[in-house]
Amino acid sequence: MTLSDRQIERYSRQIIVPGFSGAAQERLLASRLAILADANEAEPALVYFAGAGIGHITLAGPGGRAAAEERAARIRDLNSDAVLAHAASVPDEIDLLFALIGGPESRSALDAVAGRPRSGAMIVVRIDAPARIAIIPDGAGCPRCAGGALLDPPRARAEHAEFVAMVAAVEALKLLAGLAEANAAALIEFDGLAASARPLPVHDLIAAASPACGCRRAGEHASASR
Ligand SMILES: [Zn+2]
Repeated sequence: MTLSDRQIERYSRQIIVPGFSGAAQERLLASRLAILADANEAEPALVYFAGAGIGHITLAGPGGRAAAEERAARIRDLNSDAVLAHAASVPDEIDLLFALIGGPESRSALDAVAGRPRSGAMIVVRIDAPARIAIIPDGAGCPRCAGGALLDPPRARAEHAEFVAMVAAVEALKLLAGLAEANAAALIEFDGLAASARPLPVHDLIAAASPACGCRRAGEHASASR
């Protein structure tokens, strides 16, 4: 894929992310992102992703057809490079799942995909308190077997939840653009606006047998005995 003059002009402002380049933009335009969230809570991140030129975005989860079509049309107006689709569940073939967990419905939706065979990386954003962002690389377990208490019942909404969601969106952009270490599992924890990161304990699905939750890479069979 080669950027057109119009695309170079449009994305020239994407310099908030260090190391950004034409090649990074081409990777974004080719990338497939699924967002699992309450549709209203997903809105700021969705607008950011579409504006940044992520080519294929699927908003997974419940929502009326009319609202879905209206949202897709709005995204098309914002940036015709981004195509927004809706799906009842997360598609199998994606580069990144961005899960925004603020209440019981989005938490159950994440729980439903947690043990499923999967491909692509995952970013889980808990916007209840204490707010945290888990970055789970491709081939590295799921929200059930990773650390970070990612499937705990949601508590009260975190202070600065929108800020946390946007920090996570920038992390997602870096991964999809190839600007972040693709195999580094990390947990970013927030205390108000202050964030600190530490390694996230994950299960290596390539080197080891499936963990107790049964998650495995898409296309591979579960190990017969463990
Ligand atoms: Zn797992």
